[in-house]
Amino acid sequence: MRTPLIAGNWKMNTNLSEATNLVQEMLAELDAITGAEKVLCPPFVFLAAIKELTRGTSIELGAQNMYSVDKGAYTGEISPLMLADLCAFVIIGHSERRRYFAETDGAVNEKVKAALEFGLTPILCVGESLADNEAGRTETTITRQVQAALAEVPPTSGLVIAYEPVWAIGTGRAATGEQANAAIGIIRDIVATLWDTETAEAIRVLYGGSVTGGNITEFVARLHIDGALVGGASLKASEFVSIVRQTAVIKSAQ
Ligand code: PEP
Repeated sequence: MRTPLIAGNWKMNTNLSEATNLVQEMLAELDAITGAEKVLCPPFVFLAAIKELTRGTSIELGAQNMYSVDKGAYTGEISPLMLADLCAFVIIGHSERRRYFAETDGAVNEKVKAALEFGLTPILCVGESLADNEAGRTETTITRQVQAALAEVPPTSGLVIAYEPVWAIGTGRAATGEQANAAIGIIRDIVATLWDTETAEAIRVLYGGSVTGGNITEFVARLHIDGALVGGASLKASEFVSIVRQTAVIKSAQ
């Protein structure tokens, strides 16, 4: 039985007062929901403040990125060692990192290894572009991304994968539940081949891409889909709470 997980990726949004207001608005309701893990991924600079606000609650924190080295002369970078004091999760290989910051499959692999080494749970993002999707290359793209990201990584259930088709992120054009479930089934098969069936069944795999309170059930009703990585809708307290609540209800009935 996998614990459902909803993670909110705030991306490069909010200032300090907006960030704290957003957390305060959802804190009590989110904390009260059982049956799903709830992870907030604010910008790095607000992690410490939000850690204080959420102390003693069931809400967990994640970072949106990190570098793969623990310390040294890497001006401007954030290390897994720094994050380990502040949060439990870290998003790795988001398509915006791959696209705007030239993050390669090799760099993603280094980051996954480093996150695990420092006790962080990576939320590894994979997903095909619109061009790859239209050319029928969804499976080859996600296979390449998962194989590269997990190269030389020993089997662990302490990894989360998010299937995020690039064409669905921030576009309002979500995948269908059927498409997402099929892609996530492929991801489990790849993990089973790379590692083993038991671990492939144990890891959580999320869907991400234009998830809202109005469409979350489409995804979490599917057996392969353990929750969602939510961008835009995670910036609205009531909508994020609704996504988490619906997920907990549906998954507890499965
Ligand atoms: C994301 O940033 O990972 C994401 C899925 O964004 P959105 O929900 O806005 O499509």
